[in-house]
Amino acid sequence: MATLFEPLPGVPDHPALEREVLQWWERERIFEQMRELNRGGPPFSFMDGPITANNPAGLHHGHGRTLKDVFQRYKAMRGFDGRYQNGFDCQGLHVEVEVEKSLGLNSKREIEAYGLAEFAERCKERVAHFAGVMTEQSKRLGMWMDWDNSYYTFSDTNIEYIWGFLKTVHERGWLYEGLRSTQWCPRCGTSLSKHEQAGEENYRDVEHPSLFVRFPLQGRDSESLVIWTTTPWTLPANVAAAVHPEAEYGLTEAGEWWAVERRPDAEFVRRVRGEELVGLEYEGPFDELEAQNGVVHRVIPWADVSMTEGTGIVHIAPGAGTEDFELAGLHELPVLVPIDESGRMLPGYGPFEGMSTDQVPGPVVDELRRRGRLVEAGTIVHRYPTCWRCGTPLLFRVVNDWFISAAEIRQPLLDANATVEWTPPQYKKRMDDWLRNMGDWNISRKRYFGLPLPFYPCSCGQLNVVGSRAELEERATRGLDGLKELHRPWIDDVPIRCSACQDEVLRIPEVGDAWLDAGIVHFSTLGWQNAEWSSGGNATGAARGLTGADLPDHAYWEKWFRADWVSEMREQIRLWFYSTSFMAVTLEGRSPYRSVLTYEKVLDETGREMHKSWGNAIELNEALERMGADVTRWLVCEQAPSQPLRFGYGMADDVKRRLLTLWNSVKFFLDYAEVAGFEPGGQPVSLQPLDRWLVARGDAFLAAAEQQYERFWTPGVIDAVESFVDDLSNWYIRRSRRRFWNEDAAALETLQRALVLTIRVIAPVMPFLAEHLWRRLRAAEAAESVFLAGWPESGAEGADGALLSEMAEVRRVVELGRQARAQANVKLRQPLRRLVVQGVDGASKHEGEIRDELRVKEVVFGAVDAVETRVKPNLPLLGPRLGSALVDVRRELAEGRWEEREGGRLAVAGQVLEPEEVLVERAAPAGWALAEDDGVTVALTTELDEELRLEGRVLDVIHELNGLRREAGLELSDRVVVTLPGGFDELLRHEDWIKREVLAVRIELREGLEQPRVEKA
Ligand SMILES: [Zn+2]
Ligand SMILES: [Zn+2]
Repeated sequence: MATLFEPLPGVPDHPALEREVLQWWERERIFEQMRELNRGGPPFSFMDGPITANNPAGLHHGHGRTLKDVFQRYKAMRGFDGRYQNGFDCQGLHVEVEVEKSLGLNSKREIEAYGLAEFAERCKERVAHFAGVMTEQSKRLGMWMDWDNSYYTFSDTNIEYIWGFLKTVHERGWLYEGLRSTQWCPRCGTSLSKHEQAGEENYRDVEHPSLFVRFPLQGRDSESLVIWTTTPWTLPANVAAAVHPEAEYGLTEAGEWWAVERRPDAEFVRRVRGEELVGLEYEGPFDELEAQNGVVHRVIPWADVSMTEGTGIVHIAPGAGTEDFELAGLHELPVLVPIDESGRMLPGYGPFEGMSTDQVPGPVVDELRRRGRLVEAGTIVHRYPTCWRCGTPLLFRVVNDWFISAAEIRQPLLDANATVEWTPPQYKKRMDDWLRNMGDWNISRKRYFGLPLPFYPCSCGQLNVVGSRAELEERATRGLDGLKELHRPWIDDVPIRCSACQDEVLRIPEVGDAWLDAGIVHFSTLGWQNAEWSSGGNATGAARGLTGADLPDHAYWEKWFRADWVSEMREQIRLWFYSTSFMAVTLEGRSPYRSVLTYEKVLDETGREMHKSWGNAIELNEALERMGADVTRWLVCEQAPSQPLRFGYGMADDVKRRLLTLWNSVKFFLDYAEVAGFEPGGQPVSLQPLDRWLVARGDAFLAAAEQQYERFWTPGVIDAVESFVDDLSNWYIRRSRRRFWNEDAAALETLQRALVLTIRVIAPVMPFLAEHLWRRLRAAEAAESVFLAGWPESGAEGADGALLSEMAEVRRVVELGRQARAQANVKLRQPLRRLVVQGVDGASKHEGEIRDELRVKEVVFGAVDAVETRVKPNLPLLGPRLGSALVDVRRELAEGRWEEREGGRLAVAGQVLEPEEVLVERAAPAGWALAEDDGVTVALTTELDEELRLEGRVLDVIHELNGLRREAGLELSDRVVVTLPGGFDELLRHEDWIKREVLAVRIELREGLEQPRVEKA
């Protein structure tokens, strides 16, 4: 007989079958065929948030990319037309820092010495290399994207779109340059914005000096303020001391002013309210420094002075702290900035000049001690912000930065978010919270390889903002010839003419925040306001040669904006979700996405963070090769995105075990279909009730899975699949084994359809295994790939609700029957006489199934009398209430002398007990096994007579003989000769039965044989 179906091995080798499927997809161009099939279908607009092409993809990328691929595949199977454009983030601090590391550069001075043009080339090379690496990794994960046409955020096209946005922002009056105290990384030499720094992971325990210092008051002989600081480098820039105006301050005998609350044990010679100290002048700690020239130090009021740490008097250095800077504005204090961009003390700071902030404390302490100003010097370990990129502890520095005001856009952003559907829904509020609290957007970075900010401020007061390359070319005074792309250093050599005074003006040296790059992609990749389609129009500037991406026209943008769906990690609320919304609401007045799926970070399987140094980190490549892409994807999909994703090899093994149920069911089908020469869809078949049930169950499963896919909820999909596979394998196949032996076409047909349905529904989650099985199960006329077969339609009969609930009841009864057997220690193979079932409705129509499955001779539906109800007093309640009457109640209950009353009350020994005052136990009397759950009770007789005992032995031997058949590697259809030990003669009373069950042509008895034996006939 010709082999219709290729058989399966006992267990799948996931990585091996995945590599084979990948090659087949590539060779047969299945992805391209699928796109062709869906062209012209309704659009499903997905926008990929770009990942930085800076290192190999990590497990967290695999997490997000799985979810993106699952829903793109699902929508494609439903006939939706997609774009499949992947995005790479390409410039900014993260790329620079890695390139610096690889070149061994460690400061901005060293980068400049290396040369900006060369540095830019190295950055581009790095991006090109890792874009290639990440593309290959993503393919291995099974992600289907249009890999030849990825977008790159460092293309000139992307840059120009941001320029246009910035020009709009300027025209609205939102753009400003401001002195601002910002968190500053002295290594990276740049300020960092609030959204970059907001993550908790950016805070670490850092040890700092802790100094208590005296500031002598002017005109108050031997009286001093005592302040506390953990940043001694800020003392040379001190200009004021702040007190809480309402708090009480005391003067100690030693002449020191402290907040009374901070020195509860001290004796004070005088006490005043803080406001009485306001206005006093004092000697600063380093008045002799040139930078301190002309500074008058005085006491100012501040309602936020902390009374939980320090002295209750706060040293104020407006050039080195955010709150200090704000107070300087209120009280007209001078702002002394003591450090340069690498964190070294500036000229004007005398002996400290040139020292880093880490080097300053020693000399400061020595000097204060010499002057008799030091009260105490120690150290403190506290949570302190560190650079998100390089881990260096941050400083505060007042610098010139460029900002976009958030004031006018805040409410429109909130309104736009109200139109977005978030999954999980609670994250919508998180986005609102972020928008309500966001500060102005700090968009400038004092760095090199990033978006060149197109700002040309003129000495006449005009701020020129260039909105496009065309505008730049029109206004340039020189340097266009050397402008190979819109990056530094080439752009720095192109001055323009000021629109107000016609003077030549230079661009500011700053580059832009990388979230401008990623935030514009809903416009730059879709051709917003682009009059004519430009082939390869996104392969410009630094992206030339890396991609073939077109720049579409406005009609295309109209079609694809806004995205139906985006999906990124939860931290993107303050990053990509924020920046894309900010830009889209500014340019178009609406959110760029209709719905969002967001998810938490990855932890190891015990719930700990993954760290290389802890030995629990798993690389994406390693996961794909060791557990396989399908298992990786399944692990992602089965967990709720509202919780951190747990990931590890133990969990993977568990998934593989669970997947075997489906695998074994397919294998079972293929083996029997082979024996029967079965061809799917060959003959009209007449379905039996169990077949009709599986068809109805399949319809219900399909509807449930669809509902979960539609709400972007993969755990619901996995639940639906697992529950259907359980019904299919542990009920349908189990109950239909005999029909498969008999080569029953209806059973084979029904099973094939159910398996194919399962595979089609799970294909978006595990595309490789689904494809592998589809190619073995599909009917000859079906599409060659499961992804070309479309989405399954529900069966012709539709879901038969009554049949489904009947069979669900049957499965419950069987489950309870098994429990009852287990409790009575009677194995499943031992036939029993009688089963009584109480509390079911439709299960009685399927009495035969229950009888066979539970191996009983008779099933009775009706009241289970064989139950003894024992009632005990609930002592903690009854004891206090009844007191000495409890003794009688207890005895009468034990003897069963009680009567039921209305509402579950019991009358006993002259008392009426409430239902919660007694504990009711139901138990089976001798000879019965009982199980009950939620209103259903089953009772089995457990007594065995001779006939039952013999049948039990027959079933044992059949089981054993079939095991021997398998061990001998016999084909399902092979006939055998059975030899039994002499003592088994009694079993031959059931000779035909045994022969039938093990395909035996004859059974022989042999004296002296120890074990049954099977030989091929
Ligand atoms: Zn840094
Ligand atoms: Zn001018």
